[in-house]
Amino acid sequence: MVKYIFITGGVLSGLGKGVVTASTGLLLKSLGYNVTAIKIDPYVNVDAGTMNPYMHGEVFVTEDGGETDLDIGHYERFLGINLTKKHNITTGQIYYSVIMKERKGEYLGKCVQIIPHITDEIKERIREVARESSADIVLVEIGGTVGDIEGLPFLEAIRQMRIEEGIRNTLAIHVALAPIISTGEQKTKPVQHSIQELRRIGIQPDVVIVRSPRELEEENRAKIALYSNLPKEAVFSDPDVDTIYRVPLILHSKGYTKYVASKLGLRYKEPDLSKWEEFVNKLTSPKNYIKIAMIGKYTKLHDSYISIVEALKHSAAWNNIGLKLGWFEATDIERGKIDLNQLKNYDGAVILPGFGKRGSEGKITAIKYLRENEIPILGICFGMQLMVIEYARNVVGLTKANSTELDPSTPYPVVDLLPSQYNVEHLGGTMRLGAHPIIIEENSTAWEMYGKKTVYERHRHRYEVNPKYIDLLESAGLRISGWSREKYPEFIEQRRTRVFYFGTQPHPEFKSRPLKPSPVYLYFVKKVVEATKK
Ligand code: GLN
Repeated sequence: MVKYIFITGGVLSGLGKGVVTASTGLLLKSLGYNVTAIKIDPYVNVDAGTMNPYMHGEVFVTEDGGETDLDIGHYERFLGINLTKKHNITTGQIYYSVIMKERKGEYLGKCVQIIPHITDEIKERIREVARESSADIVLVEIGGTVGDIEGLPFLEAIRQMRIEEGIRNTLAIHVALAPIISTGEQKTKPVQHSIQELRRIGIQPDVVIVRSPRELEEENRAKIALYSNLPKEAVFSDPDVDTIYRVPLILHSKGYTKYVASKLGLRYKEPDLSKWEEFVNKLTSPKNYIKIAMIGKYTKLHDSYISIVEALKHSAAWNNIGLKLGWFEATDIERGKIDLNQLKNYDGAVILPGFGKRGSEGKITAIKYLRENEIPILGICFGMQLMVIEYARNVVGLTKANSTELDPSTPYPVVDLLPSQYNVEHLGGTMRLGAHPIIIEENSTAWEMYGKKTVYERHRHRYEVNPKYIDLLESAGLRISGWSREKYPEFIEQRRTRVFYFGTQPHPEFKSRPLKPSPVYLYFVKKVVEATKK
C-alpha cells in the first residue's frame, strides 16, 4: 500500500515548503523506505520552460528533459534520486489532457466538469507517478498558498484521495508563517487563519510546521494546536537557519521523523544521518574562503541560478573551503558601470547561463578580462558559448564573431542554431533537452574531472558551437574535450594554460548532490583552492 503525504502552504509563498518536503523525504528515506516526490504548480503554463527566471526562479531540467520547477531540484538533492518530468504537475497539463480527451470523444455524452473530470485527472497523475516509481511513500507538494483560486481543484483532489486511500495511508502537512512584528512579538493569527481555510476546504492537517525567524514559543505552539484541532505534539517549530541543509536535522531533533512515521504506521528505527551531518558541518564551519564572481543577467534574483550555487556549495564543503559569492550584473558591465578590476579580488568566476542579447557583450568583456588576467573561469551553457565567441574575436582575430542568437547577420557565426532546431515553430519544450551522452577525450581537464569516456549531463539549449569553426579555434589553442554523439562540442578548454579555463554546453549542476557533488564543480573548486595557495 502506497502512503501519500500532502504538503500545503499558508500565509505567503516562499516559506521553504519545498525544503520541508525535501527534508521530510530525506528523513523517511533514512528509515529505509523508497520515497519519491511530486510538485504541483497551479499555474496555467504547461511547464516552467516558458517563464523567465525573474518570474519563477531557475528552470530545473530533469534527466528525461522536463523543464520543471526549482523544487524538483531540492527533491533530487535531498533525496539523492533522479525524478522525471511527470513529477511536476501543472494546471496547464491537466487541462490540456482533459481537453484533448474531450475532443477525442472519451467523455462522449457527458458534461465535462472540474469535479469529477479535472480532479480525476489530477488523482490519476499522482497515482501514475506512484506506480511508475514503485515508491512506498509519495510526497505531494502543492505550490502557492491555501485559498488561492487556482489551487482549489488540487486541494479538492487531495480531499478525495484521503478518503479513497484510507486515512491511515495519507498525511496532510501544513507549513505556515508566524511572523515577528516590530514589537518583537511572534504572532500566530496568520497560521490560525490559513489552517481554518484549509479545514473549510475539507482538509484537516495532521501536522503543522511553523516557519518563523526564530523558534516557535511554547505558548504559541499550544495556541496553534488548539486552533488546528491537533495535539501540541503535532506542531513543529521550523525557525530560520544558516543553511537549508540543516532543516532535516532540526526537524529530526524535534521528534518529527518519529511522529510522521507513527501517524502513517511506518516502522521506526533511529536513522543514521551522520554523513548528512558531516556535510552540513563542513559547509557551515570552514576555516578559509574562496571568492567566486558570478557573472550573469538575472543576478538580482539569486534563485535564478540555484542549482549552480548549490553545486558550488557541495563542492566547497568537500574541498574543506568556504564560499563567498560576488554577483556581477552583465548589463551593468556592458554599460561600463562596473570596474572590471574588481574581478582581481576574486579567485575564480562562473559565467552563468542565459538567453538573448541583453548583457551578452558584458559577459564577453568580463571573459576577456578574466582570461587575460589568468583568473579561473567556468562557463555554463550560454557562458561556454560566449567563451568561444570571446576566443574567436580576441585570440583567433575574427573581430565580429558572434552567435546567430545575438546577431543573425554576423560574418563569423561561431555559435549557430542546432540543425535539429531549424524547423522548430513552437517554443515550449522544444530545445535540446535532458541527458545526452558526452564522449570525453583523454589527457584533458574533462578527463581529470570524470575519469571516464562517456558521461551523461543535462542540456537545455538551441545553439551550439559551429562545427565549421572548430579547426580554426583548435589551431589557435582552444580544445574541444567533450563531444556529443552527433559531434557537437560539449566541453571546451585551452590546450596550453596553467589556469583553469573550462566551458560546458550541458548543465552539470543539475546532477550535483550534497553527498555526491558534480565532478565539474568539484574539480573547479579544487583548482581554485590550489591556485590561491600558489
Ligand atoms: N541561449 C543559449 C542557447 O539556447 C544558451 C542556453 C542556456 O544557457 N541554457 O543555446
